[in-house]
Amino acid sequence: MADRKEEKFRKIRKNHTGLSIVFLILFAIIAHILLLLLTVAFFLHIIDSKLEGEYQTVRYMARLYESIVVNNSDEDSKASAYRLLDEEGGDYFITDRTGAILHSRGENTCKMDMGTMEFPGVSKDLIIYPDSKNGFLMPDGEGGLTLEIPDLKIWLGLAGRDFVRIMGEDWQRIFGVRNEETLEELAAEKANMDLPFWVGTEMLEGNSRLISKAVLHINSRDLLLLLVFFFSVGLVIFVITVVMIVTMISGVVRRHKLTSIFLTDDVTGSHNWMWFLIRGGILMKRFRNSGKSFAVIDLVMVNYRNFCVCHSIAEGEALLREVDRLTNENLGRKELCAHYASANFVMLLEFRSEEILNRRLEELTGILDGIDLSHRLNFHIGVDIIRPQNRRNRKNGPVDLELSYNNACAARATLAGRDDSGIAYFNESLVEEQRWRDIVQEHQQQALDNEEFQVYYQPKYDPRTERLKGAEALIRWVSPEFGFISPGKFIPIFEKNGFITHIDHYMIAHVARDQRRWLDAGFRCVPVSVNVSRAHFIESDLAEQVRDMVDAAGTPHEYIEIELTESAFFDDKAAMISTIGKLKSYGFEVSMDDFGAGYSSLNSLKDMPLDVLKLDAEFFRSENSGDERAKIVVSEAVRLAKQLNMRTVAEGVEARDQVDFLAEQGCDMIQGFIFDKPMPGNEFVMRMQSDNKKEVEDADQRTSISDPEGTGDVPEDVQSENGDPAEHNQ
Ligand code: C2E
Ligand code: MG
Ligand code: MG
Repeated sequence: MADRKEEKFRKIRKNHTGLSIVFLILFAIIAHILLLLLTVAFFLHIIDSKLEGEYQTVRYMARLYESIVVNNSDEDSKASAYRLLDEEGGDYFITDRTGAILHSRGENTCKMDMGTMEFPGVSKDLIIYPDSKNGFLMPDGEGGLTLEIPDLKIWLGLAGRDFVRIMGEDWQRIFGVRNEETLEELAAEKANMDLPFWVGTEMLEGNSRLISKAVLHINSRDLLLLLVFFFSVGLVIFVITVVMIVTMISGVVRRHKLTSIFLTDDVTGSHNWMWFLIRGGILMKRFRNSGKSFAVIDLVMVNYRNFCVCHSIAEGEALLREVDRLTNENLGRKELCAHYASANFVMLLEFRSEEILNRRLEELTGILDGIDLSHRLNFHIGVDIIRPQNRRNRKNGPVDLELSYNNACAARATLAGRDDSGIAYFNESLVEEQRWRDIVQEHQQQALDNEEFQVYYQPKYDPRTERLKGAEALIRWVSPEFGFISPGKFIPIFEKNGFITHIDHYMIAHVARDQRRWLDAGFRCVPVSVNVSRAHFIESDLAEQVRDMVDAAGTPHEYIEIELTESAFFDDKAAMISTIGKLKSYGFEVSMDDFGAGYSSLNSLKDMPLDVLKLDAEFFRSENSGDERAKIVVSEAVRLAKQLNMRTVAEGVEARDQVDFLAEQGCDMIQGFIFDKPMPGNEFVMRMQSDNKKEVEDADQRTSISDPEGTGDVPEDVQSENGDPAEHNQ
């Protein structure tokens, strides 16, 4: 889960800043080239539109000459043609095929020997020549011509003069220019640029050529237009560039803010679990092969909940912040600490030897214990060691910090119940436990389907008469793969993963069926108690479920008893009272299991209408036997139960003197190895048989005592106590 979250986060966080900068630079280069090209294109367009008239004039003169001379090439026609052309004004000349000048008007400053040039927008029928006086078109040294742009000072002069004219007084004031001469001086005599060149065109199918002087007039307005165009396009490009830069920077800032929110813990305001995974992952990648050892630590403040209950959550959180601060203060450069959840912190520590690590952790708990001297704060620490990777064998792969933290938690969990600070290390037995947990979870459903779970019965006897009074159904797993497994090895796992509810159903159904079979076989059956886990009690229709299952087997309800562990009574009390009430109204007996094992809830005894109190086996452990105080507690518990109209069962009784003591105290039943261990159903049947036989013998004996003459009159009390076996089977 955390892996996927981390992966998603990495994707969001991926830094594209480098790429954005490259993109921006590329954009700037392209934009500048574009700006230049557009300006040049615009400039050429201005020139082109200005010269169009000049080209038309040359074409017109040529066509005029041809119209007169083409059909009549005598000298007169030519002379009249020259006259007409002269009237057009302008400098021009006409040459023959060899280049010899036939006629000219005005000053001939054309540099024909310098070659021609291709001019954008000039069609193929025109030839361009430079002018020898003005350097607008210049020979390029290779027989061609180049366009010579007048120098910047002249452009500025032209633009400036116009600018001064537009801005007037203001311009002079702002820039401190005393008069417009200052700028006009720059333009010198070329302020209004007339740039001459010559345009030629073929006539009479190439027999002659007309070459006329053309002038490119450039004035300050053209320049102004060009500048306005240049700056407008430049401004657009500039704005786009600025927008791009701002977007990029705000993206980086936003990503940075998001990152810090995502990696900050809500409670401590410091680092959180995700931060730990990311930073730890980086550290592990860098240092795993450096020969260094690391340890992943789960640090938990044991009495945090109590502290919050006694004070407030806000004060509890302030305490966590202090723990976070102090822990971080004690870290080295390559070490990490983050708040995981509740009162748990995760740490990554570097160490040289386990001894030093242990000393360091002890020092840390010492520091943390002293945070609040008015309270006893205890800290449990679980440690999982990450060994340095073998340089030659790197098959180990990357470190799974999440798994390592789970291991540290498993180690820390072994300290549960200790109310002082302590340190526990993850080891092979915990690995085995984890492996076993996985195996159980993997096989549980299949085992249930294949009926691998078997019901064992442990009889309960009357300590005075030693007659069978009841039994408890206890589960056993007989697995074809793993052999015989006792409940202690799988019930806690089922309780954690929720599978226990299936087990409870299974047991109730099987016990009800067994009882029905035995009743049908004519045995005097005794009530059998079935353990129902506390997880099951959250189901509001538990009583109905039990009733339906027992009814499905056709078993009278008084043959089934429901056992609840004492700890379950701390759960939802109202729900518990309601379920017990319903079970009793359906005719089931209800007992409190393991009374005295944990925090005895005398209050529960007051509120719950229970039938049986099962005294925990702990009272009868060999080390407690003979303990006067334990005896007092047991005898008082029995007395208390009697006063509350409850029967008592003593569990785990193994010694004769305990039986005698319990009989003396008036304990109703004993369930312990002193009489029987839990046994399979067929063995339990034999117990029932022998008990039934004993009953018949006892009845016979009593009959002979009370009726020595054999009249057959049985006293009333004996009849009702033992009754006819067939009567019980109803
Ligand atoms: P429990 O319900 O308190 O069951 C009594 C346990 O004490 C049984 O252990 C029984 O074998 C043991 N015992 C009885 N007399 C003696 C004795 O004299 N000496 C010693 N050393 N032990 C004695 P078992 O069968 O191993 O069951 C352990 C626990 O597993 C049960 O405690 C109960 O909490 C749970 N469990 C067993 N079967 C089921 C079941 O079907 N459903 C549920 N929910 N829990 C079950
Ligand atoms: Mg029990
Ligand atoms: Mg018990």
